[in-house]
Amino acid sequence: MMNLNLPVTMLKGIGEKKSRALQVMAISSINDLLHHYPRDYEKNMPITAIADSRIHEMNVIRGTICMHTQNIKKRNMTITKTKIRDHSGEIFAIWFSQPYLKNKLKAGDHFIFKGKVEYKYNMVQILSPNIIEVDAYEERVNCLKPIYPLTKDISMKFISGAIKQALTYTKGQLKDFLPESIRTTYALAEYNYAIHQIHEPDDMEALEVARKRLVFDEFLLFALGLHLIKSHSHELPNMYVMGEIKKEKDLLNALPYTLTNAQKKVWQEIKQDIQSPITMNRLVQGDVGSGKTVIATLALLAAVDHGYQACMMAPTEVLAKQHYASVTELLDPLGIHVVLLVGSTTKKNKEKVYEAIETGSVQVVIGTHALIQEKVNFKNLGMVITDEQHRFGVKQREVLAGKGHHPHVLVMSATPIPRTLALIVYGDMDVSIIDEMPPGRQKIETYTVNTSYRDRIYTFIEGEINKGRQVYIICPMVEESETLELESVIAYTDKIRKKLDKNIRIDYLHGKMKPQLKNEIMEKFSEHKIDLLVSTTVIEVGVNVPNATLMIIENAERFGLAGLHQLRGRVGRGKHQSYCVLISDSKNQVTKKRMKIMCEHTDGFIISEYDLKLRGPGDVFGRKQHGLPEFQIADIFRDIDILKDTNTLAKDILNHKQTLEEEEYRYLHDKIKKYFSHHVKQIAL
Ligand code: ADP
Ligand code: MG
Repeated sequence: MMNLNLPVTMLKGIGEKKSRALQVMAISSINDLLHHYPRDYEKNMPITAIADSRIHEMNVIRGTICMHTQNIKKRNMTITKTKIRDHSGEIFAIWFSQPYLKNKLKAGDHFIFKGKVEYKYNMVQILSPNIIEVDAYEERVNCLKPIYPLTKDISMKFISGAIKQALTYTKGQLKDFLPESIRTTYALAEYNYAIHQIHEPDDMEALEVARKRLVFDEFLLFALGLHLIKSHSHELPNMYVMGEIKKEKDLLNALPYTLTNAQKKVWQEIKQDIQSPITMNRLVQGDVGSGKTVIATLALLAAVDHGYQACMMAPTEVLAKQHYASVTELLDPLGIHVVLLVGSTTKKNKEKVYEAIETGSVQVVIGTHALIQEKVNFKNLGMVITDEQHRFGVKQREVLAGKGHHPHVLVMSATPIPRTLALIVYGDMDVSIIDEMPPGRQKIETYTVNTSYRDRIYTFIEGEINKGRQVYIICPMVEESETLELESVIAYTDKIRKKLDKNIRIDYLHGKMKPQLKNEIMEKFSEHKIDLLVSTTVIEVGVNVPNATLMIIENAERFGLAGLHQLRGRVGRGKHQSYCVLISDSKNQVTKKRMKIMCEHTDGFIISEYDLKLRGPGDVFGRKQHGLPEFQIADIFRDIDILKDTNTLAKDILNHKQTLEEEEYRYLHDKIKKYFSHHVKQIAL
């Protein structure tokens, strides 16, 4: 049989250096190459009549050169200018600094031109169009050209070539691990076909068929894994059985409010878990501001009350510090010793904290990933809480849980997803949902405007800041380029500094900053030493600055509903009326609908239901989504029906374990074992 594990270096043109570059994308074998799927496909654009070409957009036109091409000198540049004619009309074409084109473009010649059309100096022009031979273009008109994810030192041409070689090498010889019976039941393409078509689709239809099969594979393995983990973890006996929590009343009485019914219900579920014979493994889902921190604090208290240590991990220092402050405020009066452990804790203090954790003199530790460092050894850790779970991988959660001896695990997530989805996606955990907001919350007023409103928005910003409030601007994001991202934030900040009142303190934040600098700026903002923060989406993580009342989101069309909702959740956290302004010039119908939903709804669960419905085949492959588990090719929302199918199938397969022993299932069985040997050690199949 074909050996798919052969290293990529066996292919032509791949040496040690390229092989190392490929490893950055986790590609080391032929098999990995086959599974490096395109992130998108480029279709050759259809040809437009010159009279119908769209201004400000890319257009492909086919025409004849109808004037003597000229080179015009302007300052240090040569501009090449000619005119193209087709049956519908004429258009000028302009190139910059490519004087040699003059000889190529002779009157009477016929070409395809692809470029942006603009209206300038009183004439319609196509700017720096690519010049393509007519035959070459027509040959490829219906093909879909794969676009692969790239990394440093790996070009599109290189990766396409490598994959092509891998496809040729394995052609028709891949073993299909799905039994024929499953393929028939779910109408799935054969494996060789799917792999081939995903890389070199004949057409859109073949691509869909191939994609469906590979999505199915990915979900099936995922679902099997979850069910295995679930059946496994549920057998964990509770070594930290807890009973009545003596200080529970004290804590509840000290709160300036009473718990909402939803909070009470969730707290009840947690208490049942920790009192039961089985270790808790629970996810608490609640929209931003639904009051998850107090629930976490109660769980910390429960552990301490029974003589165990407890810890809580947050994804950023700022967040860890905020938690530390609110937890200390509640637990300190009850005589509980809480410490903070973050990256910036001084070495000396760290040593002290490590020791206190080890000897058990500290009961509650709040921190960042510093908590999962090797030196941290708990004396008797009974409760592990992670907040904003989607920023952590399952792996980190496991490491943290591994710090103790099977402690209770509680995960807090602000990603509102419909219950059905939560039950599948978090299949390894029990799920609680806080589906009610504390009373008296003000609705965040949300508006959608186009860029012509910018001056009025500046006035709005100044107004809020003059009232003593703070403002976020989410800067237009530039995808896939670190330098561009940075430039755009800085350029935007410069621009807005010139526009706004000089006394307004403005700073910016972006993802590529050193964590320490990022923390400093976030802290300055939360201490109100900054009035206006221009930021990329890095602020999405649950920071709490109640004085921030206005959020402007530029290029709002670039965000999905869930992303917009998470961002908007940064305002409306205090007693002041808050606002969110979505700026977009998009005329796309789905985008408009998304904006409308944002203006009409604030409930994260409702918004995520809409998200589910609105996500159509529009975007071929799911982008980074929601902090839900990320899949290579599957999109949890778009492919939810396949997810449901595989979930049922996985349960079926595992309920009849003997099926896996059948000949037909042998390869699937092998695949599962191999797939999960990396992920979960203890699972016995
Ligand atoms: P999140 O779920 O986003 O973590 P927090 O726990 O930070 O939300 O709570 C948001 C705010 O709501 C906090 O200021 C908290 O004190 C307050 N809060 C929590 N529960 C209630 C409640 N039952 N009634 C009133 N306010 C509450
Ligand atoms: Mg929170």
